Amino acid sequence: MENKLFYDKKTGWHRISDTDEAAMHAYAEGYKAFLDEAKTERDAVKWLTTVAEEKGFSAYVRGMDVHPGDKYYKINRDKGIILFVIGRNGMKHGINLSAAHLDAPRIDIRTIPLYEDNGMALFKTHYYGGIKKYQWTAMPLELRGVVCRVTDEGVQSIDVRIGDKPGDPLFVISDLLIHLATDQMGKTLHKGISAEDMNVLIGSKPSKSDMETSDKIKLWVMEFLNQEYGITEEDFLSAELSCVPAFKACDIGFDRSFVGGYGHDDRVCSYPAATALFDLEDIPEKTAMTILVDKEEIGSQGVTGMQSQFFDTLVGDLCRADGTLFDECMERSTCLSADVCNAFDPNYPSVSEKRNDARANCGVALVKYTGSRGKSGSSDATAELMAKMRHCFNKNGILWQTGQLGKVDQGGGGTVAMFMANRNIDTVDCGVPVLCMHAPFEVIAKLDLFAAYNAFKAFYTMQ
Ligand code: MN
Ligand code: MN
Repeated sequence: MENKLFYDKKTGWHRISDTDEAAMHAYAEGYKAFLDEAKTERDAVKWLTTVAEEKGFSAYVRGMDVHPGDKYYKINRDKGIILFVIGRNGMKHGINLSAAHLDAPRIDIRTIPLYEDNGMALFKTHYYGGIKKYQWTAMPLELRGVVCRVTDEGVQSIDVRIGDKPGDPLFVISDLLIHLATDQMGKTLHKGISAEDMNVLIGSKPSKSDMETSDKIKLWVMEFLNQEYGITEEDFLSAELSCVPAFKACDIGFDRSFVGGYGHDDRVCSYPAATALFDLEDIPEKTAMTILVDKEEIGSQGVTGMQSQFFDTLVGDLCRADGTLFDECMERSTCLSADVCNAFDPNYPSVSEKRNDARANCGVALVKYTGSRGKSGSSDATAELMAKMRHCFNKNGILWQTGQLGKVDQGGGGTVAMFMANRNIDTVDCGVPVLCMHAPFEVIAKLDLFAAYNAFKAFYTMQ
């Protein structure tokens, strides 16, 4: 007799059909292409805008007359994007909303970055997000971002992207050779690499110019950048340049069941959240929306983060056009805070709670609460909302599980969930389990990625 009294976390491999497995691998190919293309939030917004337009979405402008089935996007300063499909009930019954982030840990180039030292030219950096600094040395890096020049006509943005085209040069942060690392090896992992030593090697060739300076190598770099992009050193003051890992996303394992790559956190949630919305076949009852934001990795503050009023302003505009009270729309909305959680790692079982942590291949994970030291900093979803999502996922045959962030008092973390919940929106975290989270090369299971896509699709049409 089947035991229906016990809850069992099951791997999706026991129930997947050959057709679904083929669909899963095909979906992962699209995702890998997205990972390679969109390594910064600006890249991601560009990609999402292009695909959204192909899928029939158009730019929303305040005051527009909107109708059920209309598909729109609104871009926040090129670093965030909200995509939505107007439901049959407009804004009146609230929104089914997913919120994911497009930023990922990386190495930002400092405001005044360029200098020459002992025959080499380097960039000063300031790391972005929570990283283990030693993981980012002695590996190839690309340079991506934007430099804003000030011209007589106004501000001119110049895209910089070096490293992803065949034959492009790459960059590197050096690490100490093991032969001279006696002192370094005695330090803790935390102190082994100091942030001020994470300078990026960018050249060593002196300029032949007779311009007066002792920094001829720095001069060569500026001559090159001036020729290539028309910029001077002062233009760095109005730039956002980042070094990101240069390797491409790839399959992992003999069976190709995993994807390895940079920035799964949180592209492995933003990609399914967006593509599920693109692929909605029927007009949903409630308005379906995904908000993809910047700055989650440093606290969600700022004009492009989840705490920004950008989201509220858009919802306010839509409610006004619809004759719906803004507060009423908020309290009737449901949000899946689409962010990754940790996957149980057999190499590090001691920090995990094997009953409660998510497992790779067991599906998209609903995480009731995050936080640390007694749930501090968590919004803790209600039992009622957990039940509502259980019902939605089970009814639609979604492969899902629950997740938690390791052993109690081992560490912790947070997501954008609390910022949505603070807006009086019922919110729960829901995302893909990740191995080596925040490392330059993270790993996820394809089954879980595909499960997330199906879960978001079911959620957007939830009554
Ligand atoms: Mn995240
Ligand atoms: Mn993160």
